[in-house]
Amino acid sequence: MEGILFVMSGPSGAGKTTIVKGSLNELEDVEFSISYTTRPRRKGERNGKDYFFISEEEFKALTEKKEFLEWQAVHGHLYGTSKHYVRSKVSLGVNVLLDIDVKGAMNVKKQIKDAVFVFVAPPSFKELKERLVKRHTENQKELKKRIEDAKHELSQIAEFDYLIVNHDIQQSIKQLESIIIAEQIKVSRRGEFVGKYKFFKGVSKEASR
Ligand code: 5GP
Repeated sequence: MEGILFVMSGPSGAGKTTIVKGSLNELEDVEFSISYTTRPRRKGERNGKDYFFISEEEFKALTEKKEFLEWQAVHGHLYGTSKHYVRSKVSLGVNVLLDIDVKGAMNVKKQIKDAVFVFVAPPSFKELKERLVKRHTENQKELKKRIEDAKHELSQIAEFDYLIVNHDIQQSIKQLESIIIAEQIKVSRRGEFVGKYKFFKGVSKEASR
Protein backbone atom coordinates (compact mmCIF):
# COMPACT_ATOMS: atom_id res chain seq x y z
CA MET A 1 0.00 0.00 0.00
CA GLU A 2 1.27 3.48 -0.87
CA GLY A 3 1.87 5.97 1.93
CA ILE A 4 -0.36 9.01 2.41
CA LEU A 5 0.78 12.58 2.04
CA PHE A 6 -0.46 14.83 4.86
CA VAL A 7 -0.18 18.54 4.19
CA MET A 8 -0.22 20.76 7.28
CA SER A 9 -0.81 24.43 6.78
CA GLY A 10 -1.91 27.51 8.65
CA PRO A 11 -0.56 30.86 9.74
CA SER A 12 2.82 31.31 11.29
CA GLY A 13 2.44 31.14 15.07
CA ALA A 14 -0.59 28.82 15.07
CA GLY A 15 1.57 25.98 16.39
CA LYS A 16 1.86 23.75 13.30
CA THR A 17 5.48 22.82 13.81
CA THR A 18 4.97 21.89 17.49
CA ILE A 19 1.96 19.74 16.59
CA VAL A 20 3.84 18.02 13.76
CA LYS A 21 6.85 17.29 15.98
CA GLY A 22 4.63 15.99 18.80
CA SER A 23 2.83 13.60 16.47
CA LEU A 24 6.06 12.37 14.91
CA ASN A 25 7.21 11.27 18.36
CA GLU A 26 4.07 9.18 18.81
CA LEU A 27 3.58 7.62 15.38
CA GLU A 28 6.02 5.16 13.86
CA ASP A 29 4.97 5.05 10.23
CA VAL A 30 5.10 8.80 9.57
CA GLU A 31 8.07 10.85 8.44
CA PHE A 32 8.58 14.57 8.10
CA SER A 33 9.65 16.11 4.82
CA ILE A 34 12.43 18.58 5.57
CA SER A 35 12.06 21.63 3.34
CA TYR A 36 14.76 23.73 1.72
CA THR A 37 14.84 27.39 2.67
CA THR A 38 16.82 30.57 2.14
CA ARG A 39 15.62 31.93 5.49
CA PRO A 40 18.42 32.54 8.01
CA ARG A 41 18.71 29.86 10.65
CA ARG A 42 17.08 30.66 14.01
CA LYS A 43 18.73 29.94 17.31
CA GLY A 44 18.38 26.25 18.11
CA GLU A 45 17.54 25.20 14.55
CA ARG A 46 19.68 22.53 12.91
CA ASN A 47 20.60 22.19 9.26
CA GLY A 48 19.18 18.94 7.88
CA LYS A 49 16.82 18.56 10.83
CA ASP A 50 14.53 21.60 10.80
CA TYR A 51 15.36 22.72 7.26
CA PHE A 52 18.08 22.45 4.68
CA PHE A 53 19.39 26.03 4.86
CA ILE A 54 20.69 27.06 1.46
CA SER A 55 21.59 30.24 -0.44
CA GLU A 56 19.34 31.92 -3.03
CA GLU A 57 21.68 30.69 -5.79
CA GLU A 58 21.44 27.11 -4.59
CA PHE A 59 17.67 27.43 -4.34
CA LYS A 60 17.46 28.80 -7.87
CA ALA A 61 19.57 25.92 -9.18
CA LEU A 62 17.19 23.42 -7.54
CA THR A 63 14.13 25.11 -9.08
CA GLU A 64 15.79 25.00 -12.50
CA LYS A 65 16.48 21.30 -12.07
CA LYS A 66 12.79 20.87 -11.14
CA GLU A 67 13.72 19.32 -7.82
CA PHE A 68 10.73 20.81 -5.99
CA LEU A 69 7.24 19.36 -5.73
CA GLU A 70 6.26 22.93 -4.91
CA TRP A 71 8.06 26.05 -3.80
CA GLN A 72 6.98 29.52 -2.63
CA ALA A 73 8.23 32.85 -1.44
CA VAL A 74 6.83 32.97 2.10
CA HIS A 75 7.15 36.06 4.35
CA GLY A 76 10.02 37.26 2.15
CA HIS A 77 12.08 34.02 1.97
CA LEU A 78 12.07 31.01 -0.35
CA TYR A 79 10.85 27.59 0.79
CA GLY A 80 10.58 24.37 -1.22
CA THR A 81 9.55 20.71 -0.82
CA SER A 82 11.75 17.96 -2.27
CA LYS A 83 9.89 16.09 -5.01
CA HIS A 84 12.23 13.11 -4.81
CA TYR A 85 11.85 12.71 -1.04
CA VAL A 86 8.04 12.83 -1.09
CA ARG A 87 7.61 10.54 -4.10
CA SER A 88 10.11 7.90 -2.98
CA LYS A 89 8.80 7.72 0.60
CA VAL A 90 5.15 7.55 -0.44
CA SER A 91 5.86 4.82 -2.98
CA LEU A 92 7.62 2.80 -0.24
CA GLY A 93 4.45 2.97 1.89
CA VAL A 94 5.68 5.66 4.27
CA ASN A 95 3.23 8.38 5.30
CA VAL A 96 4.77 11.80 4.82
CA LEU A 97 3.98 15.04 6.64
CA LEU A 98 4.56 18.44 5.04
CA ASP A 99 4.53 21.71 7.01
CA ILE A 100 4.04 24.30 4.29
CA ASP A 101 2.22 27.57 3.63
CA VAL A 102 -1.31 27.73 2.21
CA LYS A 103 -0.24 28.64 -1.35
CA GLY A 104 2.15 25.69 -1.38
CA ALA A 105 -0.63 23.44 -0.07
CA MET A 106 -2.96 24.52 -2.87
CA ASN A 107 -0.22 23.77 -5.37
CA VAL A 108 0.15 20.23 -3.94
CA LYS A 109 -3.64 19.82 -4.08
CA LYS A 110 -3.56 20.33 -7.85
CA GLN A 111 -0.93 17.62 -8.25
CA ILE A 112 -1.75 14.94 -5.67
CA LYS A 113 -5.47 14.30 -5.50
CA ASP A 114 -5.48 11.87 -2.59
CA ALA A 115 -3.27 13.93 -0.28
CA VAL A 116 -4.90 15.02 3.00
CA PHE A 117 -5.02 18.71 3.85
CA VAL A 118 -5.01 19.83 7.47
CA PHE A 119 -5.35 23.45 8.54
CA VAL A 120 -4.03 24.54 11.94
CA ALA A 121 -5.70 27.70 13.21
CA PRO A 122 -5.10 29.75 16.36
CA PRO A 123 -8.08 30.09 18.77
CA SER A 124 -8.31 33.77 17.73
CA PHE A 125 -6.49 36.32 15.62
CA LYS A 126 -5.63 38.28 18.77
CA GLU A 127 -3.97 35.22 20.28
CA LEU A 128 -2.01 34.59 17.08
CA LYS A 129 -0.56 38.11 17.20
CA GLU A 130 0.37 37.68 20.87
CA ARG A 131 2.09 34.33 20.18
CA LEU A 132 4.11 35.78 17.32
CA VAL A 133 5.24 38.76 19.38
CA LYS A 134 6.14 36.58 22.38
CA ARG A 135 8.36 34.13 20.52
CA HIS A 136 10.79 36.92 19.48
CA THR A 137 11.99 35.12 16.34
CA GLU A 138 11.30 37.95 13.87
CA ASN A 139 12.14 41.64 13.69
CA GLN A 140 9.34 44.24 13.56
CA LYS A 141 9.11 44.30 9.77
CA GLU A 142 9.02 40.52 9.46
CA LEU A 143 6.48 40.29 12.27
CA LYS A 144 4.18 42.72 10.49
CA LYS A 145 4.48 40.71 7.27
CA ARG A 146 3.64 37.43 9.05
CA ILE A 147 0.54 39.03 10.63
CA GLU A 148 -0.63 40.38 7.25
CA ASP A 149 0.01 37.01 5.56
CA ALA A 150 -1.95 35.26 8.35
CA LYS A 151 -5.12 37.08 7.28
CA HIS A 152 -4.88 35.66 3.79
CA GLU A 153 -4.06 32.16 5.08
CA LEU A 154 -7.05 32.16 7.49
CA SER A 155 -9.36 33.10 4.62
CA GLN A 156 -8.50 29.79 2.89
CA ILE A 157 -9.65 27.30 5.56
CA ALA A 158 -12.57 26.05 3.43
CA GLU A 159 -10.10 24.53 0.95
CA PHE A 160 -8.87 22.03 3.58
CA ASP A 161 -10.14 18.58 4.68
CA TYR A 162 -9.58 19.00 8.43
CA LEU A 163 -9.35 21.89 10.87
CA ILE A 164 -7.39 21.78 14.11
CA VAL A 165 -8.03 24.81 16.32
CA ASN A 166 -4.98 24.85 18.52
CA HIS A 167 -6.32 25.65 22.01
CA ASP A 168 -4.23 23.03 23.70
CA ILE A 169 -1.11 21.49 22.22
CA GLN A 170 -1.66 17.95 23.59
CA GLN A 171 -5.22 17.89 22.30
CA SER A 172 -4.08 19.17 18.90
CA ILE A 173 -1.41 16.46 18.68
CA LYS A 174 -4.09 13.86 19.46
CA GLN A 175 -6.32 15.30 16.77
CA LEU A 176 -3.58 15.10 14.16
CA GLU A 177 -2.83 11.50 15.16
CA SER A 178 -6.54 10.66 14.86
CA ILE A 179 -6.62 12.14 11.35
CA ILE A 180 -3.59 10.10 10.34
CA ILE A 181 -5.03 6.87 11.75
CA ALA A 182 -8.52 7.43 10.29
CA GLU A 183 -7.15 8.20 6.82
CA GLN A 184 -5.14 4.97 6.85
CA ILE A 185 -8.22 2.81 7.50
CA LYS A 186 -10.50 4.43 4.92
CA VAL A 187 -12.12 1.79 2.70
CA SER A 188 -11.16 3.81 -0.37
CA ARG A 189 -7.48 3.30 0.52
CA ARG A 190 -7.83 -0.44 1.27
CA GLY A 191 -8.31 -1.69 -2.28
CA GLU A 192 -6.16 -4.78 -1.76
CA PHE A 193 -8.09 -6.00 1.28
CA VAL A 194 -11.49 -5.14 -0.21
CA GLY A 195 -10.54 -6.94 -3.43
CA LYS A 196 -9.89 -10.22 -1.62
CA TYR A 197 -13.60 -10.56 -0.81
CA LYS A 198 -15.09 -9.28 -4.05
CA PHE A 199 -15.83 -12.79 -5.33
CA PHE A 200 -18.10 -13.45 -2.31
CA LYS A 201 -20.64 -11.07 -3.80
CA GLY A 202 -22.65 -13.67 -5.75
CA VAL A 203 -22.14 -16.41 -3.15
CA SER A 204 -23.46 -14.33 -0.28
CA LYS A 205 -26.90 -13.92 -1.92
CA GLU A 206 -28.07 -17.28 -0.59
CA ALA A 207 -26.88 -16.55 2.93
CA SER A 208 -28.60 -13.20 3.13
CA ARG A 209 -32.06 -14.61 2.29
P1 5GP B 1 9.16 29.45 9.26
O1 5GP B 1 10.07 30.47 8.66
O2 5GP B 1 8.36 30.02 10.40
O3 5GP B 1 9.85 28.17 9.62
O4 5GP B 1 8.10 29.05 8.14
C1 5GP B 1 7.38 30.04 7.49
C2 5GP B 1 6.29 29.43 6.66
O5 5GP B 1 6.86 28.72 5.57
C3 5GP B 1 5.41 28.43 7.42
O6 5GP B 1 4.07 28.70 7.10
C4 5GP B 1 5.84 27.12 6.87
O7 5GP B 1 4.78 26.19 6.91
C5 5GP B 1 6.19 27.50 5.44
N1 5GP B 1 7.05 26.51 4.78
C6 5GP B 1 8.03 25.75 5.30
N2 5GP B 1 8.56 24.94 4.39
C7 5GP B 1 7.86 25.16 3.24
C8 5GP B 1 7.93 24.59 1.92
O8 5GP B 1 8.72 23.72 1.60
N3 5GP B 1 7.05 25.11 1.00
C9 5GP B 1 6.15 26.08 1.31
N4 5GP B 1 5.32 26.47 0.35
N5 5GP B 1 6.07 26.61 2.52
C10 5GP B 1 6.92 26.17 3.48
